[in-house]
Amino acid sequence: MKKLISIVFIIFSFTQVWALGEDDNQSIPYPELIKRYQILASQYNTCDFISFGETDSGEPLHLFIMNSSGEFYPEAIHNKTVILVQNGIHPGESCGIDASIEWAEELLQNNSIPDNVVIGIIPVYNIGGMINRGCCSRANQNGPEEHGFRGNARNLDLNRDYIKADSRNALAFYRLFHWLKPELFVDTHTSNGADYPYTMTLLTTRRERLDAHLSQFLVHKLEPYMYANYDSLSPYVNVFGTTPNKGIKAFNDMPRFSSGYASLFNCIGFTTEAHMWKSFDARKKATSKFLKILTDFAHENAKELMENKQISDTEYARDFEFVNLRLDTTKNKEITFLSFAPEYRFSEILGRDQLYYNREKPETIKIKYYDRFEKTGQIHVPKYYVVKAAWREVLDRLKANQIEMTPIENDSTLNGVGMYIESFTNVENPYEGHFLHHQVVVRDSAITMTFHKGDYLVSTQQTGWRYILNVLQPESDDSFFAWNFYDEITQQKEWYSAYVFEPYAKKMLADDLQLQRVYQNKLVNDPKFKKGDYRLYWLYTQSPFYEKEHNRLPILKVY
Ligand SMILES: [Zn+2]
Repeated sequence: MKKLISIVFIIFSFTQVWALGEDDNQSIPYPELIKRYQILASQYNTCDFISFGETDSGEPLHLFIMNSSGEFYPEAIHNKTVILVQNGIHPGESCGIDASIEWAEELLQNNSIPDNVVIGIIPVYNIGGMINRGCCSRANQNGPEEHGFRGNARNLDLNRDYIKADSRNALAFYRLFHWLKPELFVDTHTSNGADYPYTMTLLTTRRERLDAHLSQFLVHKLEPYMYANYDSLSPYVNVFGTTPNKGIKAFNDMPRFSSGYASLFNCIGFTTEAHMWKSFDARKKATSKFLKILTDFAHENAKELMENKQISDTEYARDFEFVNLRLDTTKNKEITFLSFAPEYRFSEILGRDQLYYNREKPETIKIKYYDRFEKTGQIHVPKYYVVKAAWREVLDRLKANQIEMTPIENDSTLNGVGMYIESFTNVENPYEGHFLHHQVVVRDSAITMTFHKGDYLVSTQQTGWRYILNVLQPESDDSFFAWNFYDEITQQKEWYSAYVFEPYAKKMLADDLQLQRVYQNKLVNDPKFKKGDYRLYWLYTQSPFYEKEHNRLPILKVY
C-alpha cells in the first residue's frame, strides 16, 4: 500500500511539475471539439462543417470551412485562395487542434475572415488516436495533462500513409484535398529532440519538388515573409550531427508525408513544429500566430498565389524529370540560431556521458544550415503508362487522386518500354505495415506487352503527373513498388527439373553462337557462375520457358 501511495505521489508530483504555473494545461477532448465546430456551423452562415467519409475509427473525417461569402461549392471556393490546416495527425501533439478551434471562433465572432481567402480546417485527422486519450504517451512533452496517441485506430502513423493509403483516413483525405484544391497547406505538430529557446520551428516542403513558379515564389516571397513577420522562428531543428550547434539539415518531406504529398499537386506545404518543452498554452499561441501570419500573407498575395497554382496545374511533365531528392552535404549556408549550450554530464544508467542542454546558458550563435537537395532518379517520361487493372489497389489510389485514365476498349498488344526490377533491399522489420523496399535498381527494355479490355492508359500530360511518376516509377522512394504493391512479380511461379532441362540447355548453347559467347564470358567474369546450379538457372532464364512476367512491372511505358 505504501508503495502504491508513493507511486501515486510520484505521478502526482510529475504532473504538477509539468503543470507548474500553467492555468491552461488541458486539451479539448474529441466530443467537445466536434461539438464546438458544430455550434459554429449552426451559428454563422460564413462557415460549414462537412464530412468526407469514414476513417479507421468509424468516425467521419471532417472539414470545417470558412468563406466570407457563405458559399461552399467548388466554383465559389476556387475563386479565392484556399488554405488548408490539418491538425492532430499525431494527436499527442495537440496544440494545433486547440489553436485552430479558438482561431475559428475568433474569426467568426469578429467577422474577420479575409474576403479573398477560404480557410479549411481539419479539426483532427487521426481521430482514433485522439480518442485513445491518456496522460502519458508523450514522454518528453510539457503537457497537456491528457492527450491523444500517435498511432491511429489501426496503429498506423498517418504521417507515413499518404501514398500507400492503408488507412481510411488517407482515402477520406484524398476526397477532401482534391475537392478543396488548396494553394497552401499547414500540418500542425509538436517537436521531439533538441532543446532551444524557440517556441516554433518550421518545416517547409522541398522546393526542388515544386515547379519553377511555385519554387521561386516560395523561396523569394512566402518563406521570407513568414520569417520576417514571425519573430523568433527557426527552421525545423533536424540536427546534422549530434547537436544543433554542429548544424541542422532540412528535412526531405517525401510524398509519404503530408506536405510532400501536397507538393505533388502544386500545393505549398508547411509543417509547424511547436517545441515540446514550452507550455501547452505557449505552443497553442505559437501555432495560431503562424496560422494568422500565413492568412495575412494569403490575403495580401491571393491573386499571385492563385495564378501560380493555375500555371503550375497546367504545366505537365517534360521529357525528363526526377523522382528522388538527396541532401547535398557539400552545400550549406550560415544562419543565426538561438541555442541552449549543449553540455555533457555522466549518466549512471547509460554508464557514459549524456548530452543535455543548459537552459541557464542561452546563446546566439552561427550554425550551418544544409538545405540543398540534389534531384536524383532521372526518368525519361513516357507519353502514357499503361497499367493492368488486375492490380486493383493501384487503380483505386490513382482514381482516388483524380488521375485521369482512359480504359482500353479492346484486348491489345502494345509496343513500349517495360521496367524490370534488377535488385532491391528491404527493411529488416515491417515499417508501417510494409517491408518497404530501398535501393531499387530498374532496367528499362523495349518490349511488347498484352493488355486487356479494362486496363488503363495514364497520360503524363495532366496536373497530377508528379504523383503518377512518383507512384509508378519503381525507383521512386515512395513508389507503389517500394510499398509492396507489386511484390507478386518478384517471385518466379514456374520452374524446371535440372535433369530434364540440362540436355535442352546444352542444345541451346550449341545452336546459338551469341549465347555461347556470353556464357563463356560469364564463366570467366561472373562470380555467380562458379556454381553449376546457377549456370543452369541462367541458361533457363535465356530460354523461351522462362516466364516473362518475372521481375517485370505490369506497366508499360509508351513514348
Ligand atoms: Zn508530429
